[in-house]
This record gives sequence, structure tokens and C-alpha cells, in this order.
Amino acid sequence: QGCGICTKRCYLGAVNIINLPEALEEPIHRYGQNQFELFGLPNIKEGSVVGILGPNGIGKSTIIKILSGELKPNLGDYEAEPEWEEIINYFKGSQLQSYFKKLSEGNVKTSHKPQMVDMLPKVVKGKVGSLLNHVDERNKLDEVSKTLEIDQILDRDISKLSGGELQRIAIAAAALKDADFYYFDEPTSWLDVKQRLNAVKVIRDLAEEGKSVMVIEHDLAALDAMSDYVHILYGHPGAYGVVAQMRGVRVGINAYIGGFLKEENVRIRRQPIIFEVRPPAEIIEGETLAEYTSLKKSYDGFSIETEEGEIQHNEIITAFGPNGIGKTTFAKILAAVTKPDEGKIKKKVSIAYKPQYLVSDFDGTVQEFLMTTAPTYGTNIFKTEIVKPFMLDEIMDKTVKDLSGGELQRLAVAATLAKDADIYLFDEPTAFLDVEQRLRAARAIQKIIESRHAASIIVDHDIVFIDYISDRAMVFYGEPGIEGHATSPMDLRSAMNKFLSDVGITFRRDKETKRPRVNKFGSYLDREQKEKGEYYYLE
Ligand code: ADP
Ligand code: ADP
Ligand code: MG
Ligand code: MG
Repeated sequence: QGCGICTKRCYLGAVNIINLPEALEEPIHRYGQNQFELFGLPNIKEGSVVGILGPNGIGKSTIIKILSGELKPNLGDYEAEPEWEEIINYFKGSQLQSYFKKLSEGNVKTSHKPQMVDMLPKVVKGKVGSLLNHVDERNKLDEVSKTLEIDQILDRDISKLSGGELQRIAIAAAALKDADFYYFDEPTSWLDVKQRLNAVKVIRDLAEEGKSVMVIEHDLAALDAMSDYVHILYGHPGAYGVVAQMRGVRVGINAYIGGFLKEENVRIRRQPIIFEVRPPAEIIEGETLAEYTSLKKSYDGFSIETEEGEIQHNEIITAFGPNGIGKTTFAKILAAVTKPDEGKIKKKVSIAYKPQYLVSDFDGTVQEFLMTTAPTYGTNIFKTEIVKPFMLDEIMDKTVKDLSGGELQRLAVAATLAKDADIYLFDEPTAFLDVEQRLRAARAIQKIIESRHAASIIVDHDIVFIDYISDRAMVFYGEPGIEGHATSPMDLRSAMNKFLSDVGITFRRDKETKRPRVNKFGSYLDREQKEKGEYYYLE
């Protein structure tokens, strides 16, 4: 049984790989009969950051569990656990031979930031400061907590933190330990752009000190900025994953975007991802769909004020800025979940809204959920516009409550798009999605907006996604947690310049693929662009 395109090892139905190499060697690990198999392991490089890039369910976390010593690889023999001797022998002649020898003897010091940081309050109790002091074997608490901007929350209780705060504390805890090998599993979830680049700095500093670092990451700009090398993983999510050879970070990410791994002769996508470097064009006046006046909302200790704005038919407006600045509050006002203290939406329009935090309190399967919420359920349009891009077929029979973070996000974005509305409003739709899913979601949103003559407003932190999808953008700025301001929607060039000058980061374009890349701080281009005031477009 196969999906018709990937051959013998395929147990599922989704098409992901087009020309699977015929002969794969024996797996490094197999979870059980007809269960996920992992082929190959990445290289470990002293003094370098090795990035891991691949879809969800392809074995990335499994790799890190194996290398950090949490999971003993079984070489495919899930019934009789092989002895370490056999495992070490398996890697004979490769750098992993001595790694596993030392690991089996307990002579390797590893530090691991796990993927799921929301588990942290369940395993550790007490104040942030005492936790971090306890793990601070490198005596760097001051430095690291300043870089990650957690010095303000050291006296807070771990049980009372937001997702972004937990993420930064988990990164700090992993980086403060004195180890030889550091593993970071998806360190940027919940973080804003500046926090992502601060995390990049902490992770890069470890490599500069000579440590071996490995990172799993779906934000291409962050992955690019932190890694020296990348390993792409391909295969069939849920069924098997293959570790491709190591590539330099630029070449590797470009190969991923191009969709073809030349050395392996493997096509991982039918089409390359195309980035359009839109010239900093004048905005063409479109047809107004909705308008709002300046909006104000205050909570105890926090207030947000936005400039007035108008939304045009057929456009996608992204909204970005730091965490705690009022983006979600603004989205809730538009969606009429929250009332503003001052101001109003001038023209009544219907809004389909995907909130930032998803709760799966629906009792039933994905299919049942869609049958009750999607007006076009079962039609051909529903299949091509919604089911296919969000790969819902493979989760149709699962219970909504049992979905993983990425699966729940796909369902939530898909269900929002399935509604009939004038404006589709998404609060952080890329959280927990892999690169492929982010781009499929972007294309699905673009298509639907166009065919329905609608519009979309999207709050997000992934610059590559923002670049890919935005027609215009609005910037949130101010003092997080205290006072927020938002601009009117404006052209992407002005928005990026405003936003990036606040955070002090410049971007350039990759020559080959045109994807945005972060400039090294203080590099020639960084200084030149800052001087010209062009933080995002080179000319
Ligand atoms: P990724 O990190 O790339 O999203 P994982 O390494 O977490 O993927 O998982 C790869 C595959 O292995 C998934 O299909 C997952 O469901 C499966 N898997 C993970 N852990 C186990 C386990 N303990 N038992 C059985 N299957 C597992
Ligand atoms: P963002 O989405 O930009 O991260 P939010 O709009 O969620 O920001 O929150 C902005 C600020 O408002 C935060 O300091 C948050 O704690 C506060 N806040 C949000 N909602 C409420 C509420 N219902 N009551 C009190 N404070 C709130
Ligand atoms: Mg994972
Ligand atoms: Mg928010």
C-alpha cells in the first residue's frame, strides 16, 4: 500500500515526496510495527549550529531525543532492544560512533530545550529566579536573562507565565547549563521578532564558545540567522523520515525553497516557493470594504490606541510588533469580541475570526466539527479550497481534543476560511505550523480572498511569511504591557522601516531565491542600510 507516489514505505495517504530513493538503509529507529521509522542522523559540529529543517511528523524531535540520550535508538528492532555495543558498532567509522560510546558511558553532557514549553510549570515549581539560579552552571544568568529580557520576571512564579515567557525561560535554562552538546527544539514559538533574534543570539553565543549546537526551527529567517549548516528532512510525515546530507545554511534553505535536493536526487515539492520582491510601489487606491475610526481600549495598567484605518477589497494586511502591545486586543475589537472604550467600526462587515489561543473543547471528530461549522462542507469547492491545502483528510477521523498544536492550528485556520465573510481575521496563524504548512496556508488565504472579493488581516511574527503574504501592513509599537499604539495600514516598505528601526534589525534579499535574510549586526550592509533608513528594501 502506498499513496501512489511514494512507494513501499508509505502507510498514509498524503503526497509529500515525489521520487523516493528505492533503497533506504535500515532505520536508526522504529517506534513499532507499521509505525514511524527514522533513517539517518544529522552531523554534530563543534563550534557550530546545525539546523534541522523539515515538516511536522518527520522525526525531528525524535532525532534530538536520540542525540540527547533520552531515547535509545533501536535500529529498527522494536521488539528486542539492541545493546549499546551493537548501536556503537552500527555507527562504526562515523563521528557518531564515539558520540554514542560516550553517551552510553554517561560521558556526554547534553542540554535540551524541549519542544513543548507549556509542560514546564508541570515539572518545576517556584520562582523563575530560583529555577534559573539552580541551573546556572556557566555563571551567565545576568547576561542571558538580559539578552532574553527576562530580568524583569525573575521574581515571578513559574505557574503564572505566558507562553512567550515560558519559552524564553526554557531557552535560558538550557543555555545556562554547562554541557558540550546543546539541543533546542523549536525555540521561537510564542516569541515576537525581536525576541526571536535575541534567542538567536543566545544560541549563537554557545557555538562561538565552541559548543556543539543543534536547532529545530520553522521560522526560516531565524533558522537562517542562527545556523551554520542545515540538514533537511524529507519523507512522509507520520510514516518515515530521511535525514538528507548536511548543507551550508544558505544553500540548504535555498534547496528547500527550490523543492529539489540535487545530491540526493529527491524532489520534496512540485514547485519552488516564489518570493516576489515587490518594489516599494505607490499604493493603488482600491475599493473600500471597511473603515474604522481611531480606537482606544484600556485595561488596568495597559492601554492601546490605534490610528484610523480602512480595509480594501482583495487585500491582505499583516499586523506586527512586540508581544504585549495590544495586537490581540485590536483583533478582538474588530471581531466584536471586545468593545472599544472609544471609536467604532464605521461600516458593518462580517468577520470570520481565528483567535490566537485555541481551545479544543469540541466533543467529536474533525469531520463532525467541520460538518457543523463549515457552510460548504462536502462540496467540491470545500475539498479543493479547504481540505486539500490544510491536509485535513489525514486528521478527519481524529478527535478534536486529541489534535497536536499544529493539527489544531490547521483546523482552526481552515474552519475560519470555510466561513462566508467580508474579512478574514487571523491572530498568529503560523504558530506550530511547519514551513510547508505556512506557505500552503498563505496560498489558501490568498486564493480565497481573491475569489470572494474579500480581505484579510493577519497578526504574525514570521517575517518570511509576512513578506510572502502582505499587500499592506500595520505596525504596533510602544511599551509592551503598558502602552501600545498602532499605525494605519500602510505599504510594506514604510511599515517594515518603522518596525525594524524600532528593533534595530535590517534585512537583505537572497540573490537566488529572493527570500528575506537578516543582516549580521554591524556588518557593512547593516550599517549602510541603517544610514539610508532602508531596513528592508535595498533600494
Ligand atoms: P517532528 O518533531 O518532526 O514533528 P517527531 O519526531 O515528534 O516529529 O515524530 C515523528 C513521528 O513519530 C510522528 O508521526 C509521531 O507521531 C511518531 N512518534 C513520536 N513519538 C512516538 C512514540 N513514542 N511512539 C510512537 N510513535 C511516535
Ligand atoms: P499582544 O497580542 O500584542 O501580545 P494583547 O492585546 O494580548 O497583546 O495584550 C496587551 C496587554 O493587555 C497585555 O499587557 C495584556 O496583559 C493586557 N490585557 C489583554 N487582555 C486583557 C484583559 N482582558 N484584562 C486585562 N488586561 C488585559
Ligand atoms: Mg517536533
Ligand atoms: Mg496576541
